[in-house]
Amino acid sequence: MSHPPLLLSPELWSHVFEYLSMSDKFNARACCKYFKRLVDHWSLWRDWTVVLTFPRSGPYNAEFWSTLRRRRVSSAVVKSSRTKDWKQLAQCLPTLSTLVVEHSCQSSLDCLKYFSYIKRLVIRHSNTSIVLDASIVKESQHLIHLNLCDVKLTKPTRHSFISAVSFFSNLTSLVCHHLGIFEHTSVMIHSVLSCLPKLEHLSLSVVHNLYSNIPGPDLYRSRGLANARTLFSLELIDCMDQSLSEDLMKLVPGLKSLSVSYKYTHQELMDRELSPLCHFKTWLSDLPHLTTLAIFKGPPVKQYVSSIPTTVTDLTLCVAGLSSQDLTATAARLPDLLHLHINPWPSHSGAQTPGIPLLFPKLKRLKLPHEHIPESKFLALHRLCDLVYLEILDGSPYLSKLTEKLKALTDYKLQVITSPSQRNVLSCC
Ligand SMILES: [Zn+2]
Repeated sequence: MSHPPLLLSPELWSHVFEYLSMSDKFNARACCKYFKRLVDHWSLWRDWTVVLTFPRSGPYNAEFWSTLRRRRVSSAVVKSSRTKDWKQLAQCLPTLSTLVVEHSCQSSLDCLKYFSYIKRLVIRHSNTSIVLDASIVKESQHLIHLNLCDVKLTKPTRHSFISAVSFFSNLTSLVCHHLGIFEHTSVMIHSVLSCLPKLEHLSLSVVHNLYSNIPGPDLYRSRGLANARTLFSLELIDCMDQSLSEDLMKLVPGLKSLSVSYKYTHQELMDRELSPLCHFKTWLSDLPHLTTLAIFKGPPVKQYVSSIPTTVTDLTLCVAGLSSQDLTATAARLPDLLHLHINPWPSHSGAQTPGIPLLFPKLKRLKLPHEHIPESKFLALHRLCDLVYLEILDGSPYLSKLTEKLKALTDYKLQVITSPSQRNVLSCC
């Protein structure tokens, strides 16, 4: 079919297509050539990332590349380490600004210099050791986001790593996970902040060096950390308090967002005969500007709840054994909370769900599982007058009746999501 299937103008069809999900866009463009041309307009593909696997069964043809150019694709995940695939990509899409390199080796990374406009670079799961230095990209000053996750470095030392990243002096976001650098987290944070003046977000995996002394107070009093004030977001993964200092947050007093993902719950620590320390109370006391807090596993909430800064408006509690008493204590600190994410919400607490609108009456966004919540209790969430977004974390197709009832009770003001939104291509772990 080469003529308009219905008497609507192309502009109107394009407007309709803007409301489609990604999978519906692919279905629509398969209908006819007319829809295909309209759907492939670049305005409908902003923020879309193409995943390129370069299958051995057959190379991508010229039409494939011209479709990507028509969509003005600027972001790609590349799952090939073959040099000829990288050269083809550089020839066909030379203006890519975001590149995610999966299962790379040195020869594929050597091809990055063919791309002149890289702003965001993610290197994940390297197959072989790679050399990290300024020459990895053509314009080191263009790079604003660098993510290295599970990458083998030819020189896995702090000194070598810091001298390499210091060339990327415009970085605003740095992610370093599982790089094999055997260094204390506090020393790494200090070194990174000392060389990257514009850094706003830092994510580190914690190295467990249980048999050497944790750096003392001198580190936290040392000079040259004017940059610490610009860092507003810190993420620590695989955290164990045994490897960290109680003074850690004194390095980053201006933090607005903190995410701590513990390696174990306190019960799991005791099962391993490790003493369950809790620095979290002190850390939170040292962060007067915090607005976003996320905690995964770790100590029981009652050990730190009284120190959560009252400035927090966005809270994630993915902790074991969360009780309704914990939520009551949290609400006493944060009665004006806007965003709440709880998971799991255990069976003994599910019946307490109607209490959530009373504890946090101003919530705009809520994420929680529904498994242990009876229907009548779940529907009580409609009493949250300001709620605009509800994400059911253990959603299933059988939930549609429940979500319809809930939406009807809110006069269809509430958006209910039962399947997770698309993962950010830059995030990992
Ligand atoms: Zn990672």
